[in-house]
Amino acid sequence: MSLFHEDRLLIDGELVRTDRTFETVDPSTGKVLGTASDAEAAHAEAAVAAARRAFDTTDWMRDGDLRLRCLRQLYEALLRHREELRELTIAEVGAPRSLTHGSQLDEPIEIVKWYADLLEGYDFREELPIQESRGRRHRRWVEKEAAGVVAAILPYNFPNQLALAKLAPALAAGCTVVLKGAPDTPWTTLALGRIIAEETDIPAGVVNVLTSSGTGTGELLTTHPGIDMITFTGSTPVGRAVMAAASATLKRVFLELGGKSAMLVLDDADFTQAAMMAAFTVCTHAGQGCGITSRLLVPRERHDEAVQLVTAMLGRVAYGDPADPATHMGPLISERQRAKVHGLVERAVADGARLVTGGRPVDREGYFYAPTLLADVDPRSEIAQEEIFGPVLVVIPYDDEDGAVRIANDSMYGLSGAVLSADDERAIAVARRIRSGSFSINGGLFFGPDSPFGGFKQSGIGREMGVAGLEEFLELKTFGVAEK
Ligand code: NAD
Repeated sequence: MSLFHEDRLLIDGELVRTDRTFETVDPSTGKVLGTASDAEAAHAEAAVAAARRAFDTTDWMRDGDLRLRCLRQLYEALLRHREELRELTIAEVGAPRSLTHGSQLDEPIEIVKWYADLLEGYDFREELPIQESRGRRHRRWVEKEAAGVVAAILPYNFPNQLALAKLAPALAAGCTVVLKGAPDTPWTTLALGRIIAEETDIPAGVVNVLTSSGTGTGELLTTHPGIDMITFTGSTPVGRAVMAAASATLKRVFLELGGKSAMLVLDDADFTQAAMMAAFTVCTHAGQGCGITSRLLVPRERHDEAVQLVTAMLGRVAYGDPADPATHMGPLISERQRAKVHGLVERAVADGARLVTGGRPVDREGYFYAPTLLADVDPRSEIAQEEIFGPVLVVIPYDDEDGAVRIANDSMYGLSGAVLSADDERAIAVARRIRSGSFSINGGLFFGPDSPFGGFKQSGIGREMGVAGLEEFLELKTFGVAEK
């Protein structure tokens, strides 16, 4: 098989092959696809120096026309390579083909267009009223300017979405970027570097792309005095480490972290529809999505009925070869991730949760895990509190609406959630009481380039996408001129 891919880093406009490499694996077969460049400290230093030079000594930050042209070129180039990127994403990420037509590829490419359109009309200046003080008039305004050199650090699960949701607004704002891909999915990120180098006028140093097998590159970026801002997506424990490391140089920190979102089924909801949504959502990308609802909250008196319906729906989830257009669920990313998921399920059963279906690795090549349902789950137990990142749904009974809200909020996370009811207004009122950054009402979609996404509590700091996503990358500078 010959996949469109790139194994070289992008540093200061040059595609650079390193001495050291590491393997990237197809998670649906466990077979090695090939190798990627393994950046060492010197590569990271060179990338930061290039981004610093591009920010400090070129017009990039001030030349909005150039930035707009470059974003439009990038969008067109991504469209030209879309089918190649699709095959790469299926192979390396294990993303089902159907998902690449949505949030794994096609939708992320549109983020670039959305930020180009926003840049075209965005006002980087805001007038303030004249201030009169001690007999003089003071003309005042605010200018919004780029936050500086940004280190963008990616997780493995939606590499195209996360790379472009960071890169597009950072470039629109006038920042320069060192983008670091995840160790499990290096080629998707390196391919982006090659497209930028070969098919856009983005000046040398404005975007640099690194991949590495270990955590050293990320650690270097989070402590480096040449970096002004970190935009990080990943797990909450690593997010804490990133924030702590960045504090030494007081970098601006943007964090998109883990989740343990709840789907609340109210007593007047359509339970068959709720069961279908719960089952198919938790199996989306095999549960490897930060905003996926992985706790199902149902009225206690209808717990067993809900369990039966969800079990039947999980049995209908088509899983297997991600290249097959009919596949809904592909593999987990690695054996390590599968062992982690299985360990959590085994401990839950030992703790008293009832395993209804699944609960085992699938007996075939690759890192598949069977769609899993645990019932009668204690809301304080590990399986109800920890992010699993696998196709594992826990069912938790509640006694009344207040109890349901309490359980939904009883989490260190606050990323997303869903509520189902025959009455939209009742559902919206419940959603308002949950501390989380987004909410789906009766299957409503909230995700898109124009909608801010991010977390309350330990799910993160800041918002990605939308106008808020641009403004994360802007500093405000206030001017006052005393009139003569
Ligand atoms: P991870 O936290 O293990 O790694 C994320 C990235 O951080 C990787 O590139 C890794 O190399 C790097 N890294 C690791 N240690 C580091 C350190 N000390 N300093 C700097 N960088 C370091 O996450 P993962 O397993 O790749 O991804 C899964 C996690 O990402 C889940 O917790 C998921 O919820 C989260 N996620 C969140 C969102 C969101 O928008 N909130 C979106 C996608 C994924």
